[in-house]
Amino acid sequence: MRNSIQTVGIIGSGPAGATLASLLMMKGVDVTLFDDGRRPDLIVGESLIPAIVPVLRKLGVEERAAAVCQHKPGVSFTFSPDEQVDFTFQSLAGSSMPTYAYNAPRPAFDRLLDERADELGVKRVRARAKVERKDGGRLQLVEETLAQAPWLHGRQPDLLVDSTGRNRLFARTLEIPADVGPRKDVAYFAHYEGFTGESPRGQVIIGRLANGWCWRIPLRDRLSVGVVMNKDDAVQFGASPEERLEGVIDHDPILAAAGRNRRRLTEVVTYTNYQLVSRRGHGPGWVMSGDALGFVDPMLSPGMWLALRSAELLAERLDDLPAYAREMRKLIKAWMGFIEYFYDGRIFAMYKTGMFVEQKFPGKIAAAMHDFFNRKIACMAAGATTTSRFGHGMLQIMSRPAAWKTDPAMLAIR
Ligand SMILES: Cc1cc2nc3c(=O)[nH]c(=O)nc-3n(C[C@H](O)[C@H](O)[C@H](O)COP(=O)(O)OP(=O)(O)OC[C@H]3O[C@@H](n4cnc5c(N)ncnc54)[C@H](O)[C@@H]3O)c2cc1C
Repeated sequence: MRNSIQTVGIIGSGPAGATLASLLMMKGVDVTLFDDGRRPDLIVGESLIPAIVPVLRKLGVEERAAAVCQHKPGVSFTFSPDEQVDFTFQSLAGSSMPTYAYNAPRPAFDRLLDERADELGVKRVRARAKVERKDGGRLQLVEETLAQAPWLHGRQPDLLVDSTGRNRLFARTLEIPADVGPRKDVAYFAHYEGFTGESPRGQVIIGRLANGWCWRIPLRDRLSVGVVMNKDDAVQFGASPEERLEGVIDHDPILAAAGRNRRRLTEVVTYTNYQLVSRRGHGPGWVMSGDALGFVDPMLSPGMWLALRSAELLAERLDDLPAYAREMRKLIKAWMGFIEYFYDGRIFAMYKTGMFVEQKFPGKIAAAMHDFFNRKIACMAAGATTTSRFGHGMLQIMSRPAAWKTDPAMLAIR
């Protein structure tokens, strides 16, 4: 069946926009992609999850991605100076999901998505696009932007897609409110060399800090280090982003030990971190994808996958935007619920209690339970079963007895 939508204008050529452009071109849709070229050299979104690999394969770019990215075998969480939980994506063996992911240097990764769209013949406008509000909740490109795509002959595309990331162009233009999560954090990050502690190679480490959390994401030739904390807490570490990032590293026993011989290779970049989902994701002739629709907290790194998955779903549901928006909302909600277990300490309490039980009653049953739990969490964190009712139900049930032995509040992330 042929889509009723023949021409699509995508605004923003980040991961969501470029992926959507490629997938639509593959389906024979005529795509015009607008991008303002304002992407900085250092961008967050470096830790990917296994669920992204099938999308890279669909695009035909996995080999190119593997050539620039660091292979990522899993992720570890340090929740106190001497307590760490390790997840390996090998737990996914036997499922349809790959047993690895990648850590991506964003500019190179974004470039290969862009190049793929270009190879498939997408038409590009290298300029900042503007839209205007019309009656009945409609949107259209302003005359000046439309004129920058002369091949459209002055006709508005059948569908406009907002892939402008946190710019949220359509939501701002249409004054669409958003549901905002409770956290109001700031993140500082930079690339380093000379850190120790990464094992096995490529393993991402998420650490609980006295006032927030941190990431260590190994790239091929460097380590991305970021800290995320409440804005008011950040101030005590100094006035500049550099002082704050370096101060937090020096202050945390694990980071300080691993980074004793560190050398910073880049400037320190600041991001605000919050959780936000647009109340409406589509309307007559327009739809949102990627961060423009909603972004989930980065602790478990779902952002890049959600951006690519939103492109994949939208390409499949071009003629059924409500179904697309419903599916995306379900995904975002499931991720937000899952991440909450890490912030409020329940997941770490479960592990601590599990370790206690294993030590007290060593044997096959305790080991099998530990293995089962690890596999389920790894599958959810990989994006394979994040929406699974069973997974969420299991977490809910297991967190109650865990709280009896270990108070989750003691392990919560501020
Ligand atoms: C602190 C932090 C850490 C994160 N870490 C991770 C992580 O480790 N892993 C992960 O998966 N995700 C992570 N994320 C999330 C991830 O960065 C985003 O989800 C991802 O970049 C979203 O991609 P996107 O294509 O929707 O938007 P973007 O990457 O923001 O792309 C938007 C594009 O639109 C362009 N644009 C904007 N306005 C216009 C306009 N009017 N006209 C033309 N072009 C325009 C921009 O220049 C840009 O090229 C993190 C986020 C934060 C805040």
